[in-house]
Amino acid sequence: MKLICDNCGAAVDVRSVACGECGADPSAEHLRLRAALPPYKSGTNGIAIASLVSSLVGLFFLPFVGTVAGVVLGHLARRRIANEPQDGDGFAIAGLIIGYLGIAVWMGFAFLFFWLSRVVPTVS
Ligand SMILES: [Zn+2]
Repeated sequence: MKLICDNCGAAVDVRSVACGECGADPSAEHLRLRAALPPYKSGTNGIAIASLVSSLVGLFFLPFVGTVAGVVLGHLARRRIANEPQDGDGFAIAGLIIGYLGIAVWMGFAFLFFWLSRVVPTVS
C-alpha cells in the first residue's frame, strides 16, 4: 500500500518510517493506517520455500508428486502471505511457475511415450 507524502508528494510505502524522497515523518493518517495493518512477520515463509524446493525436486526427480506438491504449497504460501505479510512471496511464485512448468513437461513426456507406444511396432 502506498501513501502520498504530505511534504513532497512522493509515494511512500505505508510500512516505511519516513518519506524516502524528503525524509519527512509520516502523517497522522499514515501512522493510523500502519497501526491497522497486520503485524509483519520476520523471516521468510517456510511454506514458500517448501513450494520452490518441491517444484524443483518434482521437475528433475519426482514427476507429478513433487510438482503437484509444489503448486499446492505455492498457492497455500501466497494465501498465508496475503493474510500475514512476510517475505517469501517470490519463492512461492517461483514454486508455482516451476511446478506448473514441471507438470506440463511431464505430461508432455507421458503423451509422447503413449503416442510412441502406439506408432512404433513392438519388437517381439
Ligand atoms: Zn516526502
